Amino acid sequence: MLTDHLPRVTIAHLPTPLEPLPRITSRLGGPELWVKRDDQTGLATGGNKTRKLEFLVADALRHEADTLITCGAEQSNHARQTAAAAAKFGLDRILVLRGRRPVEVTGNLLLDNLLAADVVWADDEPLDKRMEEVAEQVREEDGHPYVVPYGGSNPVGAGGYVAAMEELIDQAESHDLTFDRIVLASSSGGTQAGLTVGARALGYQGRILGISVEPGGASLRETLAELATATANHLGLELAFEPVDFAVNDDYLGGGYGVVGDLERDAIRTLARIEGLLVDPVYTGRAFGGLLDMIRRGEFRSDETVLFWHTGGTTGLFGTQQELLGT
Ligand SMILES: *Cc1c(COP(=O)(O)O)cnc(C)c1O
Repeated sequence: MLTDHLPRVTIAHLPTPLEPLPRITSRLGGPELWVKRDDQTGLATGGNKTRKLEFLVADALRHEADTLITCGAEQSNHARQTAAAAAKFGLDRILVLRGRRPVEVTGNLLLDNLLAADVVWADDEPLDKRMEEVAEQVREEDGHPYVVPYGGSNPVGAGGYVAAMEELIDQAESHDLTFDRIVLASSSGGTQAGLTVGARALGYQGRILGISVEPGGASLRETLAELATATANHLGLELAFEPVDFAVNDDYLGGGYGVVGDLERDAIRTLARIEGLLVDPVYTGRAFGGLLDMIRRGEFRSDETVLFWHTGGTTGLFGTQQELLGT
């Protein structure tokens, strides 16, 4: 495999299932939809960060770290998976979360608490700066911190999605399938960058479309190009990427990051009702809502085969009861 020479620990349940979505496909009259179940990676309710953490934790252990520090939003799936991975390897865990301590501890935040993570509330301060301060404090107490960047999206973490692309190609072959397009929620970029590096390295022909969930579509393309190039270098591959190599749709940002609107609510209810499949309010609900809208607008041919890469996050459903039940 492309990543065989990199240090890696085993955390995720792999390969994750590849499943058809026949009922919604027939409702829509095509394209043929499939789902890659990275919501089932197995780490404290799973999600896409688990694949990145297999490489990030290995790197932390190699650096003899005893504490993982990372950051995110209040309902960060990444922070929760990082806390769980740290627990599994006997490391301390400190999560720097945006905003202030909420009154109610729900969803991912409840799991952070059960996973015995120390939470530092950053208020409006830049998360990177707060993480550095926290790391300095750990050092002063003779600890060895390892800072996992926002979303686990650096060349080490993105390696997890290079390996994931290889996994998908093998799986698709054994099902005698070729995906014309892969659609996923894209935010800090490690997932889309890693998949794109894997695709280029292995000659995969289909197109990869990121549905942006955080404002800043133009800069996301630049982030993806830089991260993909750095990830390829990290793997020893001589590949370079430009912003034009990435398809990003930022038409579905709605009310902003984490704001649940009709698009997300309808996507969540539609998939739950028709396929018994749960997607989340922040990432996959928005991305699948965007995919449904694009299909209705005729942006896919009905004979295409399309893979929706489910990146997880369903724990967040339990942090947004009001928004999901409202209207
Ligand atoms: C973090 C996350 C994403 C985005 O992945 P990136 O690699 O940050 O682009 C998508 N879906 C879920 C559920 C996530 O937690």
